[in-house]
Amino acid sequence: MTLTFLGTGTSQGVPMIGFDNRGLDLSNPKNWRTRSAAHLEVGGMHIQIDAGPEFRLQCLQCKIDWIDVFLLTHGHADHILGMDDLRRFCDRLPGNKMPVYANEYGIERVGLIFPYALFEKPAQRGYPCFDLQRMPNFLEFENGLKIYAEELPHGNCKTLGFVFEYEGKKLAYFNDCKTLTPRAVELAANADAVVLDGLRPLPHPTHMSIYEAIETAKSLGAKRAFFTHTTWQIDYEAFSKIIPQNAQIAYDGQVVEI
Ligand SMILES: [Zn+2]
Ligand SMILES: [Zn+2]
Repeated sequence: MTLTFLGTGTSQGVPMIGFDNRGLDLSNPKNWRTRSAAHLEVGGMHIQIDAGPEFRLQCLQCKIDWIDVFLLTHGHADHILGMDDLRRFCDRLPGNKMPVYANEYGIERVGLIFPYALFEKPAQRGYPCFDLQRMPNFLEFENGLKIYAEELPHGNCKTLGFVFEYEGKKLAYFNDCKTLTPRAVELAANADAVVLDGLRPLPHPTHMSIYEAIETAKSLGAKRAFFTHTTWQIDYEAFSKIIPQNAQIAYDGQVVEI
């Protein structure tokens, strides 16, 4: 499996507009974060997780030119607002329609923001068209890829967390969550790699702090951990020195082989 971090920032992006971003080394490109999204290539399939406001630019930057399946973690603006740009990928698929999996909240938001994409066929060539479906607990594809999904607490809504299994390897992707559920812990146990919400040093009501994420990665027995959805308070170099050796602050454009 090849995971590309298209973006690793929070809803405001990093650095923040009109703010001194104190303590953040802006000469380090790893501290410039667009809204969180990731792309997974596995067994000839291309899976896109989320599409925030910079999605189109992220695709050009990371050379993403094909998507077979789109997974929406939840309906917050920083994860959904780039879905209009799926139009180019819909164009390239048979039937010009993109399978989109989401939870109830995601489905509701897609319906409100992109009603023009919810038809049998695109309005015309170049328009987005989503085959919007409720994400089941488990999906299996012809190439042997298994995806387990679990809803995770994220304040007054829920986020879909995903565990991908392919040829004996396991990847867990848990962004925008405050904690894991017992099932998520069970599914992600001993993962080869886990991606966790590591928002900031201080606790937050709807996200894991970086320290909570470190503890979670340890308790899962993850071989490698990547912290994403980080604010301006997480300077790449400064935090790379204090997190465990098998962990990394994820950065935009980072490619990880699992
Ligand atoms: Zn978010
Ligand atoms: Zn969110």
